[in-house]
Amino acid sequence: MKNILVLNCGSSSVKYELLNIKSSSVLAKGLVERVGMEDAVLHYHFLKDDSIYDDIKLVRNIPTHREAIQFIIRSIEDDEYGVIEDMNDIYGIGHRVVHGGEKYTDSVYITKEVKNDIKDYIPLAPLHNPHQLAGIEACEELIPDHPQVAVFDTAFHQTMPEAAYMYAFPYDMYKKFGIRKYGFHGTSHKYVSQRTAAILKKSPEDLKIITCHLGNGASICAVKNGKSVDTSMGFTPLAGLMMGTRTGDFDPAILLYIMNKEALSLSEANTMINRHSGLYGVSGVSRDFREVIEKCHNGHKRAKLAVDMFAYRIRHYIGAYAAIMNGVDVLVFTAGIGENSVELREIVCKDMDYMGIELDKEKNEACGAGEGIISSAGSPVRVMCVPTNEELLIAEETHNIIESKKEK
Ligand code: AMP
Repeated sequence: MKNILVLNCGSSSVKYELLNIKSSSVLAKGLVERVGMEDAVLHYHFLKDDSIYDDIKLVRNIPTHREAIQFIIRSIEDDEYGVIEDMNDIYGIGHRVVHGGEKYTDSVYITKEVKNDIKDYIPLAPLHNPHQLAGIEACEELIPDHPQVAVFDTAFHQTMPEAAYMYAFPYDMYKKFGIRKYGFHGTSHKYVSQRTAAILKKSPEDLKIITCHLGNGASICAVKNGKSVDTSMGFTPLAGLMMGTRTGDFDPAILLYIMNKEALSLSEANTMINRHSGLYGVSGVSRDFREVIEKCHNGHKRAKLAVDMFAYRIRHYIGAYAAIMNGVDVLVFTAGIGENSVELREIVCKDMDYMGIELDKEKNEACGAGEGIISSAGSPVRVMCVPTNEELLIAEETHNIIESKKEK
């Protein structure tokens, strides 16, 4: 059975999906949250009767990622609600790994060397890589002899040209510390751009696509001929668009100024730009777009300002990326806000007809959170909504890499 277990280990959570490659169906999925606490929670959804997902919630003491993964394994092979006989029904494990540095331009079969590299990149992704490495090591112990593959968030963007990824710091900073743009959400931008081409029955090679991944974290990517040529996140996921709690782009001198005025420590400054800013910081309402837009409808001024700023910056990047690609064929919305907010899509696309973007109001409303074309029939640029599916891409790449290793 070609089942792939996809794991995404965060600092205090492990998200998982068990997918069947042949049918592209999800057999079970869920999340362990509050890892490290006595009252950690396992959310387990499993496919029943081919269509309905049953939902189970269990509370346990889960001190580490190892126990979380053990808990997941027990659930999927459970006598009562499991979806596989035993671990022999699992073909391989795909791990989302945030940082693959400059070395990893694609997904890779996990070896000792790969693990060492993931460890070496910890300074570049201190909140992510250590937990993802812990997940890989836990799997080695719990399900030995099962091949594992790392799918990097940064890999898709490694095709950016030097002029796009370099910052105008002294060149030494690049050499010494690897200071450059890496970009993130690569798995989502890759999946969405490939899916877009498939829906349009075209080769990605023949398209210039701008993908807008608008979730709690948000980024935009310029995909030319199937390759990422620029993206809005940078050395860290702070850069680019305004996000739920992150500033996005700002004049870096502001940080020095505020740190000096408010006598902020490095850690306090970090908290301000990563956790207290963005939609939340400007509106004072919430980091959740639904709550912010609801307040905006009720006449809340700062909520309106936050939504206006969010949309303004998206439009700003769309213009920039159309310029660097010498045009754009398709503009795509994805992730929590991009897939669900008909209103945000409308605000972003308003008065963009000068660059060939003409949204069809009715099509946009009819599409809702589904997949489809939402521009008018005559719009020179197609506008689309394409729900992202990072887990499916991770599962497919994991499967393909294991297969090609076997052939060698
Ligand atoms: P993600 O990080 O991709 O899970 O996206 C989370 C964001 O999507 C949050 O800001 C949510 O408020 C937003 N979101 C989810 N559902 C909706 C919806 N129906 N309308 C507007 N925003 C939504």
